[in-house]
Amino acid sequence: MCMKFVVPFDQGHADMKATLGGKGANLAEMTRVGLPVPPGFTVTTDVCRAYYALGGQLPDGVREEVASALRVLESSQGKQFGDPAKPLLVSVRSGSVTSMPGMMDTILNLGLNDETVAGLAALTGDARFAYDCYRRLIQMFGNVVFQIESHHFESQLSRLKQRLGVGQDSEVSAEGWQELIESYRSIVVKETGRPFPQDVREQLELAVEAVFRSWNNTRAQVYRKIHRIPDEQGTAVNIQAMVFGNLGADSGTGVLFTRNPSTGERRLYGEYLINAQGEDVVAGVRTPVPIEQLGADMPLVFDQLERTAAMLEKHYKDMQDIEFTVEQGALYLLQTRSGKRTAQAAVKVAVDMANEGLISRGDAVERIEPFHLDQLLHRAIDVDQALDVLASGLPASPGAATGEAVFDADLAEAWSRAGRKTILVRSETTPEDIHGVLAAEGVLTSRGGMTSHAAVVARGMGKPCVCGCEAVRIEDRSFVVHAGGEFVTIREGDTISIDGSTGRVIRGGVNLREPELTEELQQLLRWADDIRTLQVYTNADTPEDAAKARDFGAEGIGLCRTEHMFMSAARVPVVQAMILADSAEERAEALEKLLPMQQQDFEGLFRAMDGLTVTIRLLDPPLHEFLPNMEQLVLQHERLRNDPNASSEEIDRNEKLLRKVRSLHEMNPMLGTRGCRLGLVLPEIYEMQADAIFRAVVRCLEEGIDVRPDIMIPLVGHANELIRMRELVTKRAEAILGDKAATFPYHVGTMIEVPRAAITAAQIAKHADFFSFGTNDLTQMTFGYSRDDAEGKFLAHYVETKLLPENPFQVLDEDGVGRLIEWAVEQGKAVKPLLKTGICGEHGGDKSSIFFCHAAGLDYVSCSPYRVPLARIAAAQAQL
Ligand code: ADP
Ligand code: MG
Ligand code: MG
Repeated sequence: MCMKFVVPFDQGHADMKATLGGKGANLAEMTRVGLPVPPGFTVTTDVCRAYYALGGQLPDGVREEVASALRVLESSQGKQFGDPAKPLLVSVRSGSVTSMPGMMDTILNLGLNDETVAGLAALTGDARFAYDCYRRLIQMFGNVVFQIESHHFESQLSRLKQRLGVGQDSEVSAEGWQELIESYRSIVVKETGRPFPQDVREQLELAVEAVFRSWNNTRAQVYRKIHRIPDEQGTAVNIQAMVFGNLGADSGTGVLFTRNPSTGERRLYGEYLINAQGEDVVAGVRTPVPIEQLGADMPLVFDQLERTAAMLEKHYKDMQDIEFTVEQGALYLLQTRSGKRTAQAAVKVAVDMANEGLISRGDAVERIEPFHLDQLLHRAIDVDQALDVLASGLPASPGAATGEAVFDADLAEAWSRAGRKTILVRSETTPEDIHGVLAAEGVLTSRGGMTSHAAVVARGMGKPCVCGCEAVRIEDRSFVVHAGGEFVTIREGDTISIDGSTGRVIRGGVNLREPELTEELQQLLRWADDIRTLQVYTNADTPEDAAKARDFGAEGIGLCRTEHMFMSAARVPVVQAMILADSAEERAEALEKLLPMQQQDFEGLFRAMDGLTVTIRLLDPPLHEFLPNMEQLVLQHERLRNDPNASSEEIDRNEKLLRKVRSLHEMNPMLGTRGCRLGLVLPEIYEMQADAIFRAVVRCLEEGIDVRPDIMIPLVGHANELIRMRELVTKRAEAILGDKAATFPYHVGTMIEVPRAAITAAQIAKHADFFSFGTNDLTQMTFGYSRDDAEGKFLAHYVETKLLPENPFQVLDEDGVGRLIEWAVEQGKAVKPLLKTGICGEHGGDKSSIFFCHAAGLDYVSCSPYRVPLARIAAAQAQL
């Protein structure tokens, strides 16, 4: 293998991300197409991997290659690195393969020391500027290379500004900076026991190594874990000639998106600061100015920037996130990459770009991360309510959230683990807060712009965020805000709400409104529908859910769980009476009462799904689930016995319940009398359900509704079980539909959720019109993991220690469960080529599982209503 150590910007291109990192590859690409990029070169990710392989040492030859690339850079700039008369300054910039914004380190103004700083001052005629650069270098270098915490430097800076009586960094004089540099120097000596290095080559080498080390800092590791970025990727290091945005009023620095990353609107969107350098914009030091203002401040530069943005979009065929600097009126591009965006923006940008002819409709569909749609279907604050609005900040990431205010990330995490919903409130967030952002429902910051850390991270995670809310004054574990003529204090644990779509901060909880589909999303979904062959059904138990799912594009109900119809408060007593019945007559009486209720349920579903399949699963759970729990009954029993006022009827009823619960008690109910086993032991229940279905059919047919019921028998493991249950259903159909039973198109099929059913699929298929893979139970029984016990206990450990790649209840286990599905489909279709097959577990809404279902040749996936749009997109992507 040939290792490349160093690649100059003018020798690389965009497709070299794996070796040059994203930043390096795009700097090379921009150089190649003739954009104004300060020259430089990239130390490759190969070097990073070798550095770690060697236990933290640069491989032989790297120093020489860097030195010779530096010589080329020097001559192109007409300056020398370390030359007191004409010093070349460079930035040393990390650049991973997959973008990890803010996670890794960059150092600016490298090459300054006590001599060159004077040279720079003389060269530019601006001592203030030169010393400003130098103090920045010492701080960044101290922080990145020597790991000196920033607050040591920051507190000196604030103290200086206070003493000088100035508010802004740009108002500090050259002498002020020189003074600060002296105290910075002492900080370095005090914290590290060594002085800030004056040898510029030593600076460079230490900086390069520090960037490599930053690949493994904690926050970068956490970020990689969350975003599933492989640890082996490594980072590149870019060494680039400095240009200066802090050279006065005709200089500046900024960041910009080619379209609005929140809404997708096609208009430049960004912020900049005059007379500033590097991170000033995103660090929240000064509040930046909206990019439109640049049109007035520097019309020529703005014009050039607009043209460049359009050109880059065309070139990359995607929305770009651009970093730029203006040095005395000249524009320089310092970075471009695909812009991170909200789901809403992703959809709008993809649809717009397809309509603009920039990409194809298939490309547009492929651009959408299906899980992003979860965000798109955002909650919003219901309009019909009085809101106690405390303040307004920037609408940094859309969606509304309610939770208890917390003021540090660790607490947000702890409370969320305890099941509490929180809003993380910070003056600004840093990469160290990322776990808190992840845990919280939403984020509120008092400082920082739309491109601040909190905003970027929250948008990436799809969390609502309001930032730069300056009215909020954060104190220790509380904040104070002046609202409605009074001072309001919000303490830790007080409930607040934020609206990341408008920027509002609200006292107390709010009613949230469920989201609707936008015009663009509907367009995109229609394109997806044109592409996909896999159908998308929904799991729905109520007419409301069914109607919602139908709005979202569901093409049928793949699973209606009838037990949910047993659980409403009004029905529980009837269901209990049915279970507690001492005789067949008593039971029949109770079932008689349940029948019209069930019939009504089914009528509602049929009406909502007029013309579409409704798959109804007969009762599945064990009966004890409908009775009070045993411990409770025992306690009550004790209480009643000792209560002189308790009536004998009450005592009798309690004893009877207790006896029944004891008799129904099973050691292992998941593997006990449930599903078709219950249907075989107590056929009256399934008979009642079948009657209810067919009576609903009769009624709906009278109304002119196109009814298409599929009746599904749960938990079949042996063909004989299905044979008996099918007989039962057929009999009831004949009894109720009469002559019509022969021609009315209903189907009887089964869940495939017991491994034996999958294995003997050929026998079962003879008696089934359809198979629906119940992947929750199938996973549970194939692994032999009790789902209810596994998730909170050993499974988390398994996934954490990488024993299992994923939680198999979330992402379908293709090697095990998947093989069973493939086998069952193949065997079943061999017997019955038109056998309809689908999946109705939680997996029906997971992207990779949907890809699997498509490949396995299933006819449909069925998922919860909110996941239907996601499944439509994923099914199309599986086809592409
Ligand atoms: P990050 O990956 O954290 O964004 P960058 O390497 O992009 O770090 O550097 C951050 C900022 O520093 C850039 O946006 C730019 O403003 C500034 N910067 C980096 N290199 C240079 C340079 N050669 N000249 C001027 N400014 C630079
Ligand atoms: Mg940065
Ligand atoms: Mg950058």
